[in-house]
Amino acid sequence: MNIDLLLRNGQVVFPYGGTIKADIGVSKGKIVGIYENTKELKADKVIDVGGKSVLPGMIDSHTHIGLGSNIENEYESESQSAAVGGVTTMMSYTNCRDSYDDHYRTEKKVGEEKSIIDFALHFGFMNNIHLKEIHHYIEELGVSSFKFFMNFRGEEGKYLGVEGIDDGYMFDLFVALSHYPESCAVVHAENIEVAWRLSGRLRAEGRDDLLAWTESKPHFIEAEAIQRALFYGEIANCSVYIAHVSTRDGLQVIRDYKQRGKKAYCETCPHYLMFHAGSGLGSLGKVNPPLRSSEDTEALWRGISEGLVDTIGTDHCPNPRETKTGDIWSARPGFPGSATMLPILLSEGVNKKRISLERVAEITSCNTAKIFNLFPRKGTIQVGSDADLCIVDLNLSKKVEAKMLQSQSDFSLYEGWDLKGWPTLTMVRGKIVMKDGGIVGPKGHGRYIPTIQ
Ligand SMILES: [Zn+2]
Repeated sequence: MNIDLLLRNGQVVFPYGGTIKADIGVSKGKIVGIYENTKELKADKVIDVGGKSVLPGMIDSHTHIGLGSNIENEYESESQSAAVGGVTTMMSYTNCRDSYDDHYRTEKKVGEEKSIIDFALHFGFMNNIHLKEIHHYIEELGVSSFKFFMNFRGEEGKYLGVEGIDDGYMFDLFVALSHYPESCAVVHAENIEVAWRLSGRLRAEGRDDLLAWTESKPHFIEAEAIQRALFYGEIANCSVYIAHVSTRDGLQVIRDYKQRGKKAYCETCPHYLMFHAGSGLGSLGKVNPPLRSSEDTEALWRGISEGLVDTIGTDHCPNPRETKTGDIWSARPGFPGSATMLPILLSEGVNKKRISLERVAEITSCNTAKIFNLFPRKGTIQVGSDADLCIVDLNLSKKVEAKMLQSQSDFSLYEGWDLKGWPTLTMVRGKIVMKDGGIVGPKGHGRYIPTIQ
């Protein structure tokens, strides 16, 4: 057999399978062999990995491509930034007010022209048109995950064109999805009615600080909303994926459902692991859900190591720094995160002995691929899978500068941090797109990947 590319001398990390010294053969974008010894094997190109770790490419389960400027710019810039962080597939939440048909076709086309890594889409569910067309989205457009914003009711959702959504709408969505066992509802869990009253009081008191933002959306409004979503999901027999879980109490609710064998999935984000509301970030740290307490961050790390947290997504929003200024109530929520997801998990997780490298591969790749039906094409290292690989050097230390992360955004929450553990090579379907922090892959290499067959 002709082998296009051979990766020699890697410590290959198999999710749920341990780490083994092996060589990986790649042909026509696929993994064609995993070998103990390739001395006799011929390949067009050989890369000596030099004992570094080889992981399945990262899948960022949660990005917002287009939210900072437009999709034309961001499929290019943010896919490059993601590749710096070892991400080979980004899943983006796309939103539109009308039918998704044209919107989907445009986004797929732009993504395939601009992105250097593969991408998949989650659709935001915002009105009755979407609910009516859900079968079409699943069966014809190949999308299986739909986001419901429990917080976008009333005035809160108007600026996005969200109309008439409430718990009844959520229940109808769950019932519709129950006919498709491979689909799932992604939920932003937050009781906004309580938040409105609390924020009204805090603003009247003249509060203007990051802690006030957190106090306006306390931990119990997340936990209660998770409880409500999972309860209705259970009644409707629909899989519910709770996005960006930020609290210990929220995790506890999910633990109860999982222990009863219910179809509940849990995602958290690096910023909830690394910062609490008093971390001194000011309005730069404004995000929704807000940053929490150090007890919550510890509970989330524990949730990862215990296997309760299924995935890590970044909630990547490539906002420029200027949108993060002003008072805390008017600053834009969200910040970039794709490029630093893996370095954070390596530096603060693996190198500080909180979690294993296998666990990193599970929560950033394998589990995400399984939940969103990308497995075994993505999310693993096995013969027949796409050659989406990430080589990491656990001993490489670098100081974070926004510029090296190559996002359209001009800041990072981790600016000035010394992180130990970085990806040194990112490969998407056999093509090297990032090497030693530099982008080498061509734009337009990325392909749209359906999340249901
Ligand atoms: Zn988000």
